[in-house]
Amino acid sequence: MPKNLCLGIDIGGTRIKVATVDPKGVIFEESIIDTNVNAKPINVLKDIIDVAKKFKSYSKIKNVGVGIAGDVCFETGIVRFSPNLKKWKNVKVKEILTKLTRKKVYVDNDANIAAIGAFWLEGKGKSIDLVCITLGTGVGGGLIFDKKLYRGVSGTAGELGHITIDAYGKKCNCGNRGCIETFVGARHLSEFVQDYLKDNNSKMIDKLTNKNYKLITPQLLTQAAKSGDRVAKEIWKIVGQKLGVFLSIIINFSNPDTIVLCGGISHAKEYFMKYILLEIKTRAFKSATKACKIVVSKYASNLGVVGAAMLSRQ
Ligand SMILES: [Zn+2]
Repeated sequence: MPKNLCLGIDIGGTRIKVATVDPKGVIFEESIIDTNVNAKPINVLKDIIDVAKKFKSYSKIKNVGVGIAGDVCFETGIVRFSPNLKKWKNVKVKEILTKLTRKKVYVDNDANIAAIGAFWLEGKGKSIDLVCITLGTGVGGGLIFDKKLYRGVSGTAGELGHITIDAYGKKCNCGNRGCIETFVGARHLSEFVQDYLKDNNSKMIDKLTNKNYKLITPQLLTQAAKSGDRVAKEIWKIVGQKLGVFLSIIINFSNPDTIVLCGGISHAKEYFMKYILLEIKTRAFKSATKACKIVVSKYASNLGVVGAAMLSRQ
């Protein structure tokens, strides 16, 4: 059995991943359970620990890290609010898990733990400055500066999805206008496509949705593009251009050695990556662009659980 294992817990809206992870970010034992969104948070946490107790390495673990989507206070370990888990309001996750496990517990939001996971899995712990961007329903970000997670003075650093790329653009959930999330967040993207199809006809998208455009998802657009649909490819080009503008800001701002893209829409990379790189080439500083590697994560489903475990090592 490897030495110095930590327990990582990644609580998502549909699945919860639990794993013991070694000091280099390698998973030793793991389990996945479905998320019962209607259960009381305390019961969900008890179920998670019951699963973890079945690991043969459980008794050796000293530290536990937890990642969850939403507004999480790292200092207190309280989940104030989670968009996917409506029952999770002001849940004292750190306190509850400390009692249940008698181990040292750390809790953070999913974007921060994904960045830590990317630092270990994509960068093998060798990156100095890494930015991780989660492209999902929303757009999340996590910043690793000088090999450490950067939280900012009140803990909200890395809210990259709410960087403005159109000062007079569409209203965003956060109160601002024209955030990158209003262009490439899955829900906004679906709305954009519904509009776009008013002037652009796609037989493939019509066939895949039965003309019910509310069913449009990034996965469906990828499927349409893969079968050669011109409109779907055009939409991914627009997404790539918007992401390119956004990533140019990130590159000029933080001069990272690596940008890791993960989340649902990253699977369409062959249709948007080219346009991201074109925008960056014309917008960002040359030396910063040359020094920056942009990758779509190969480890997407493990970033959270590995990041959570590695968070607890800090
Ligand atoms: Zn916003």
